[in-house]
Amino acid sequence: MKKQFWFIVGSQFLYGPDVLDIVAARAAEMAEKMNASGILPGEIVYKATVKTDAEITQCMKDANYDDNCLGVISWCHTFSPSKMWIHGFDLLRKPYCHLATQYNRKIPNEEIDMDFMNLNQAAHGDREHGFIGARMHLPRKVIAGYWQDKEVLEELGAWMRAAIGYDFSRKLRIVRFGDNMRDVAVTEGDKVEAQIKLGWQVDYWPVGHLVEVMNSVTDEEVEAQYQSYLDRYELDTDNIASVKYQAREEVAMRKILDREGAKAFINTFQDLYGMEQLPGIASQNMMADGYGYGGEGDWKVSGMTAIMKAMAEGLEGGTVFMEDYTYDLEPGNEVSLGAHMLEVCPSMAADKPKIQVHHLGIGDRKDPARLVFEGKAGPGIVVSLIDMGGRMRMIIQDIEVIKPILEMPNLPVARVMWKPAPDLLTGVRCWIHAGGAHHTVLSTAVTAEMMKDWCEIMQIECVHITKDTTVEEFKKELFYNDIAWKLKNL
Ligand code: MN
Repeated sequence: MKKQFWFIVGSQFLYGPDVLDIVAARAAEMAEKMNASGILPGEIVYKATVKTDAEITQCMKDANYDDNCLGVISWCHTFSPSKMWIHGFDLLRKPYCHLATQYNRKIPNEEIDMDFMNLNQAAHGDREHGFIGARMHLPRKVIAGYWQDKEVLEELGAWMRAAIGYDFSRKLRIVRFGDNMRDVAVTEGDKVEAQIKLGWQVDYWPVGHLVEVMNSVTDEEVEAQYQSYLDRYELDTDNIASVKYQAREEVAMRKILDREGAKAFINTFQDLYGMEQLPGIASQNMMADGYGYGGEGDWKVSGMTAIMKAMAEGLEGGTVFMEDYTYDLEPGNEVSLGAHMLEVCPSMAADKPKIQVHHLGIGDRKDPARLVFEGKAGPGIVVSLIDMGGRMRMIIQDIEVIKPILEMPNLPVARVMWKPAPDLLTGVRCWIHAGGAHHTVLSTAVTAEMMKDWCEIMQIECVHITKDTTVEEFKKELFYNDIAWKLKNL
């Protein structure tokens, strides 16, 4: 079933039944036409024209308990006194968007009289409606503009994708095969806080259990998984045994994740007890199918990868677990090179990825098979979710993924090269001031707007490094945010 978003239109009994009939008919027409635009990732369902406290309250209660309803969009065609919205908004637990629009685009010169004004007074009604949202501090998206305009529909679509991410987040389970890499700080975090705020259940499963399941995987299962690699990727190695070992790891990891209803996982090269290889193509191929992954025990980046993949469904571009590795500091043309020791998702690949086997110096295991490719160019973002102690902070940075400026023939892993906004050095300074991790989710599908909407829904801090960011202003924003979030958490 397509994700549904309820369209609830505010009014009152003051204008008589004829006006209410027109409002209801137009609202239904608007929902139908917005759905027909093909821009929205979900379906708008016109639910009701509400006139009383009781109606609104019932509507919000129904929205809360309908699992197919991912969010509520409200609008006031006429005036709708906001005291009657208080009880309903107080109960609402779904993402909320206020669409400040108007049925007619133009003011009709001849036709306009006081009847027209009473019927078409969104400018009036949406202000009263907006006040109560502000007064109650509702997390919300406010969109203003004509409802048939592409920009308005795209903004609505971005919010819908954030709401899809919220729904996914509340149900997310993350399997940890092993713990955090020893001594590393930024990949740590409060898992209970993450479950309260984001909904994630983050649980440990012993590596010994994974090995047990790997040992129970049949040769037929390994062969089928191996064949699926050949269907998707280009074989560029003679070491078939290594590739098949990865296939065995993947089948086992999928069995455990699917059994637990989990859509994300982590592992660490420090805890591969009983395993011959660090999963490479195994993790990469799972990411290609929407699973989130984090290296070195980084469950936060794993969760975010899975959520952003869900938000990106149906969009062009890739969404991948990434790590800032090294810079090219040619003055005026500074770029960042990202990769990982193995695990970059092939959704970013410019061409068909190659299956290769190389030595891996870290982890003291056998040579693992992995996918090697170049990242596809295009505008995108990198995001990092960090635990500030008492609150989560999301850092978003605009980037431009470029075709790598070098061939790097001896680099045995997938590689992505990009220019961060506003420029590499300013961007790095801002990123470091904010505490952003070396692990990120890089996406050329999900936009900064979607991520900001997601943070608003989740009620977590969000900072965004753009082409206009300066270090001085950004530091002030971080300082003010610190104070604001301390007050907010009182
Ligand atoms: Mn790493």
